[in-house]
Amino acid sequence: MPNASLVIANWKMNGNKALVKEMTAFLRDNKEQFNAVDVVVCPPFTLISDLTRECYYDDIAVGAQNVSEHESGAYTGEVSTSQLKEAGVGCVLIGHSERRQLFAENDEQINRKIKSALSADLQVVLCVGENKSQRDAGETWNVVSQQVKNALQDVATDNAGKIVVAYEPVWAIGTGDTATPEQAQEVHENLRALVVDLFGEIGNKLPLLYGGSVKPDNAKELFSQKDIDGGLIGGASLKTDDFLSICQAAQ
Ligand code: PGA
Repeated sequence: MPNASLVIANWKMNGNKALVKEMTAFLRDNKEQFNAVDVVVCPPFTLISDLTRECYYDDIAVGAQNVSEHESGAYTGEVSTSQLKEAGVGCVLIGHSERRQLFAENDEQINRKIKSALSADLQVVLCVGENKSQRDAGETWNVVSQQVKNALQDVATDNAGKIVVAYEPVWAIGTGDTATPEQAQEVHENLRALVVDLFGEIGNKLPLLYGGSVKPDNAKELFSQKDIDGGLIGGASLKTDDFLSICQAAQ
């Protein structure tokens, strides 16, 4: 019996208006197959308004892949929390490894973004994960726990109900090389203890997602792990059949 209840699609810099229409129509037509699962789609910024329009009658929620730490002003190319809210966005990915690696986001900046998003009442999906050499060096938990502690530094317990943590080993993202269910569960078990340590009892309710090459053929086993509450899905979220199968696996 899957333990999962939340599946988030991260389209990255992919997709277009046609995919918004195709995906939402397909999910709507098959909704009864995953009606116990909360589904969020995070498209590129330019497709957010198309998605909110298509999802108006649906249970699919709209997320963003990034947000500025600043509220307004001279920050060319940035998008603020209030602009996301006004566009109909309910949650935002923060600290994705591609933002960390390719756009040099660091833990301090991630912490500021999280506080800004929480104060705007957005749900935050904090992404963490070790790279291959860190795993090979036996540093996985050191790296992941430090990322979580730094990102959530001075975040009040009152806000814990708006936080989701996604464990995404960098070596598994987009590579087809998934963590085994045991490897993922080992980190998730530690993550559960850490968020309980940080926030007390409510930490037991924080959704902990696994991400990194989740596909229809591995989703069910991953989602059956005790501390895996769902998935953050990249490549497979762009294909209607695959994404539906993953949503079904969480049911
Ligand atoms: P993937 O990406 O499913 O394509 O590995 C996951 C992610 O980057 O969130």
